Amino acid sequence: MIDFEIPEEDSMLLASIDRMMAREFPPEAYRAADHAHQTPWHLLPHMGELGLLGLPFPSCYGGMEQDWRSVALVNERLAYHAGIASTLFATTVSFGGMSLMTFASEQQRQTLLPRLVQGQARFALALTESGAGSDAAALSTHAQRIQQGWRIHGRKVWISNADAADHLVVACRTTIGSMGTDGISLFLVPRHTAGIHMSLLEKVGHNCMPSWDIGFDDVVVPEDALFGQEGMGFKHVLSTLQYSRAGQAANSIGQAQRAVELARDFAQQRTQFGRPIGNFQVIQHKLADMQVRVNQARLCLYQLAWLIARKRPCRLEAAQAKLVASEAFQFVTREGLQIMASHGYAMDSDMQRMWRDAGLFTFGEGTSEIQRNLIAREMGL
Ligand SMILES: Cc1cc2nc3c(=O)[nH]c(=O)nc-3n(C[C@H](O)[C@H](O)[C@H](O)COP(=O)(O)OP(=O)(O)OC[C@H]3O[C@@H](n4cnc5c(N)ncnc54)[C@H](O)[C@@H]3O)c2cc1C
Repeated sequence: MIDFEIPEEDSMLLASIDRMMAREFPPEAYRAADHAHQTPWHLLPHMGELGLLGLPFPSCYGGMEQDWRSVALVNERLAYHAGIASTLFATTVSFGGMSLMTFASEQQRQTLLPRLVQGQARFALALTESGAGSDAAALSTHAQRIQQGWRIHGRKVWISNADAADHLVVACRTTIGSMGTDGISLFLVPRHTAGIHMSLLEKVGHNCMPSWDIGFDDVVVPEDALFGQEGMGFKHVLSTLQYSRAGQAANSIGQAQRAVELARDFAQQRTQFGRPIGNFQVIQHKLADMQVRVNQARLCLYQLAWLIARKRPCRLEAAQAKLVASEAFQFVTREGLQIMASHGYAMDSDMQRMWRDAGLFTFGEGTSEIQRNLIAREMGL
C-alpha cells in the first residue's frame, strides 16, 4: 500500500522551501509581482541551490535520484507559497527535464540537464495554435529539411513564458501531407533565433506568467535542434504528460490548501451579528467541504506519484489527478470568495488572485472535458 509517512529528508526539504520562499518571495512580494506582471525568475537558481530542480534526475547530470513522491510534495509546497513558483518548478522539472530524460539525445541531455538542475535553463512548450487547441494534432506549423538543417514556418498561440525562455520546444509537421498525430516532430529552438516574433496576449489571471503569440517566419535551426525522433513528436509529448499533469495537480492542491486556510482564518476573525461568521453552521460546512475536496485531490496526486515512481501505467490516474485537483481549486476559491465577500474581492487579497488563476487549471494542458474523455477511454468506453 501507499505509505503516507513523509521521510525525514523530505520534511527537511519542505522546511528549507518554507525558509527560501519566506526570504525570496514572501506574500507581499507575490502581490507586488502579480500587480506589476513580473515573473520571479530569481527563484529558479534558489530552487537549484536547494536541489529541488534535480530531484528525479540521475546523479551523472547533477540530479538527486529521488522518486516522484518527493517531486509531488515539493511542487505542492511551492504552490502553497506561490502558484507561480510551482509553475516555474514544474515547467523546468516535469516538462523540460523529463522531456530531456525521456526522448532527448545523450548530447542534449549532457548539455542541458546540468544547467537545468542549477536553475540556469528555461523552457517553454510551443504546441497550441489558433486552430489546434484540444485537438493539438491539428497543428499546421511546419519544418522543412534544408541544407543547413530545418526551416520552420508557422504560428503558435498562448505560449507561457516564451519571451524569457532559453529554449522553445516547438511542435512542427515534418512530413508533408501528414495528418493527425503522425509526421510531427519537436525542435529545440533557441529563443533569439532570427525570424521569431512575439507579441503579448492579455488575460485575466496568471499575471506572473506572460502568454505569447509567436510567429516563426522561416526560422532556420541546425540538424541537431531536432528534439527526439523525427516524426515521433506527438508521441513524445504524450509520453511525458503524466509528469506535467502531476505538476498541474500539485499546483492546484497547494494553492487550494492555502485558499482554505485563508478563508478559515477570515471566518474566525470576521464578526457579524455579534459573533464570528465561522460560528454559523453554513460557513463551517462550506469550509469542511472545501477541505474535503482538497484532501480528495491530494489522495489522487499521491496515488499518481506512487505509480510514476514505479513506472506503472497511469494514464487514467494522471487525467484523474489533474481533473479532480483543478476542479477542487476552482470550487475552493469560489467558496473562499463567498466566505470573504468584499474582503476577498479586494485587489490586495490573495483570494481574488487564486480565484482568477484557478480559471486556467480546468483547461490549460488539457481541458476537464478531454480528461473525462481520456478516463472514459481507459475504462473501455
Ligand atoms: C494562460 C494560458 C497559458 C497557456 N500555456 C500554453 C503553453 O505554454 N503552451 C501551449 O502549447 N499551450 C498553452 N496554452 C493553451 C492551452 O493548452 C489550451 O488553451 C487548451 O489546450 C485548450 O485549447 P483551446 O483553448 O483552444 O480550447 P478548445 O480546444 O477550442 O476547447 C473549447 C471547448 O471545447 C471543448 N472540447 C474540445 N474538444 C472536445 C471533445 N473532443 N470533447 C468534449 N469537449 C471538447 C473543450 O473542453 C472546451 O470546453 C495556454 C493557454 C492559456 C489560456
